[in-house]
Amino acid sequence: MSLLQRNVDCNSRRQPATWAKIASQPKPLNRREILGGLITLFSIYFAPAVIAFYFARKDGRSALAWVVICVFANYLGLLAYFLTRGGPPTRERYVEAHPGCLTPRGMSCYHCGSQSIRVWREQAFVKVRQYHICNHCGKTLYRSM
Ligand SMILES: [Zn+2]
Repeated sequence: MSLLQRNVDCNSRRQPATWAKIASQPKPLNRREILGGLITLFSIYFAPAVIAFYFARKDGRSALAWVVICVFANYLGLLAYFLTRGGPPTRERYVEAHPGCLTPRGMSCYHCGSQSIRVWREQAFVKVRQYHICNHCGKTLYRSM
């Protein structure tokens, strides 16, 4: 008996003929595995698209274009979305768009007309932004930094 022959004999003793038959059959997935797979699929492929869809509609940008970008580029597409997000207009642009809002007593809200406006300061990385938000209706009106 050669060396090779002996090895084959060893393997066949450890794995009976029926084992090969069992292993070759595809195991049906249980409910937990299916759910886990769906969650993974969603969080990797569809979550960025859903988030981009939500914000694009809110910001008035093309929702379909950003969904397509995020389906293909996933989180990189989402990052691109937030880096290219403009934010509220400057004070000058706000007055241009709503000339009636600049009153002798100060700025007023274009949405509800309230003159109670609070300043909200935000620092993203190094850049400091100052938002002016209506106290009455909560709309972000313009930024001054
Ligand atoms: Zn308002």
